[in-house]
Amino acid sequence: MVEHHNTLYRDTPLILSVSGVTKSFDGFKAIDDLNFYLEEGELRTIIGPNGAGKSTFMDIITGRTRPDVGSVILHENDGHDVNLAKLREHEINRLGIGRKFQTPSIYRSHTVYDNLVLSLNKSRGVLQNLFYRATKEDRDRIMDVLKIIRLEPHQNDLAGSLSHGQKQWLEIGMLMTQGPRILLIDEPAAGMSDEETERTGELLISLEKKHSLIVIEHDMEFVRQIARKVTVLHQGHVLKDGSFAHVKSDPEVIEVYLGRQGNRDSNN
Ligand code: ADP
Ligand code: MG
Repeated sequence: MVEHHNTLYRDTPLILSVSGVTKSFDGFKAIDDLNFYLEEGELRTIIGPNGAGKSTFMDIITGRTRPDVGSVILHENDGHDVNLAKLREHEINRLGIGRKFQTPSIYRSHTVYDNLVLSLNKSRGVLQNLFYRATKEDRDRIMDVLKIIRLEPHQNDLAGSLSHGQKQWLEIGMLMTQGPRILLIDEPAAGMSDEETERTGELLISLEKKHSLIVIEHDMEFVRQIARKVTVLHQGHVLKDGSFAHVKSDPEVIEVYLGRQGNRDSNN
């Protein structure tokens, strides 16, 4: 892959440009003059020690948290630029930015298929949605998603009966039905078996190009599996980015992050 850091020329257009973003909580800079650029169709992995600002970064992109200064520009397909820093959470979501949290928010007492119907249009109420007659287009879309998340054989099972990993895939599927341009996924492999983790990696890789993805992850084996460009966040700032091999062997990255992998713990 071509490195774009210091060139104006790019062969792939950007979809997201985060420039000069700072966010303080009670005087503490959780995000500190952050610059981050995501290409259309890219799968980016973010790593970094606890408290580095990874989740806050996602909060800022999705409008859950507003930056004190800086801009978060979504580059629309039609050439328009939208500053997400000025919009509200639901408005940003409607622009095609979906986020998956660690704890899945699925309807346990509904089937896998119905969960996907419910996710088609969140502005309808749950009841309205269940009586909503899915169009052929909706059904085709749901079947496509079921294949991608490999839950086709489980479409009539109750979501509550799925394994931990399958529930996570269902939730990714519920984001997919909305046709997001950017997917933000925070620690997808947490709590998964090795097999589920590997399957999750395959799933995320299958989504790149059609979608742009930002994935935060702690599990370095998983990061190795999905890594394209990896960004290391430290003290709310980009410490390094590059290939997995590049960041993994970087002395500063080893010092602030990898050297402490033994006493890491997972959080949101
Ligand atoms: P990471 O996800 O990389 O572990 P976070 O983004 O969760 O880091 O947190 C970065 C820092 O910002 C931490 O020190 C955290 O305590 C602080 N922080 C995050 N959100 C809030 C908040 N809403 N209020 C106060 N402090 C916060
Ligand atoms: Mg976090």
